[in-house]
Amino acid sequence: MPMADDLAQPRLILWDIDHTLIETRGLGSQLARAAFAQITGQHFDELAEATGKTEPVIVAETLRLHGIEPTESHQQQYAQALPEQYRRHANQLRARGRELPGAREALDALAKIPGVVQTVLTGNYRAVAAVKLDTFDLNQHIDLDIGAYAEDGTDRATIVPVAQRRASTKYHHQFSHNNTIIIGDTTHDIAAAHHGGAAIVAVATGRDSANDLRNAGAEIVLADLTNPAGLQAALMCHFAERVEGGGCTVRQLHPPERPARP
Ligand SMILES: [Mg+2]
Repeated sequence: MPMADDLAQPRLILWDIDHTLIETRGLGSQLARAAFAQITGQHFDELAEATGKTEPVIVAETLRLHGIEPTESHQQQYAQALPEQYRRHANQLRARGRELPGAREALDALAKIPGVVQTVLTGNYRAVAAVKLDTFDLNQHIDLDIGAYAEDGTDRATIVPVAQRRASTKYHHQFSHNNTIIIGDTTHDIAAAHHGGAAIVAVATGRDSANDLRNAGAEIVLADLTNPAGLQAALMCHFAERVEGGGCTVRQLHPPERPARP
């Protein structure tokens, strides 16, 4: 992890976790069902669609699917129950889930760029994010203290400034839309970048196709993370455009027209 003194050119990378760095391959849904059973005493077959959402939203939608009006108490209990399930089933996560191809190499490659600070921007609770990254040993270059999580808000876009604020305080540099990039697999990550104040590198390893991601305005779309040198070059180039004001002529790296921020 870089020291504050190394951050001559501060760059903040906000990684999405699910389907970008790792996949639980169905275990996530199983653990969610167990956590709902724990807090409601009921078995839920159906869970709300989780892609791109934060846990409080998933909890509320899932409870409503089963005729239960969500309360703050449900939210608090679930925020304890789900991380507990993950901690208890970390071995199963290791056996059944997987790190996505190239994820480790991508983290390593970005860690080599001077001034880069890496953390997560995720709909997961912080404790669940920690179990997921620890389980696959992907935590080496990720500073969880400056990440943004389910606890920080219900909308991904609103938690981008939270991570920027934490990173700015810890590393004594101003992180803003000029030097922050989200790497994620869904159109929700793209919306978070555009409305939250960051650039986006989209990776087509989740449900959304490369075309979906491009149509949603992703500035860079990668098929996967298996070309870490390419990712590194793309980011360097992108940062060169945005921060140093030139030197990179790769057309597709130019940011598209952005919707106005709310
Ligand atoms: Mg994802």
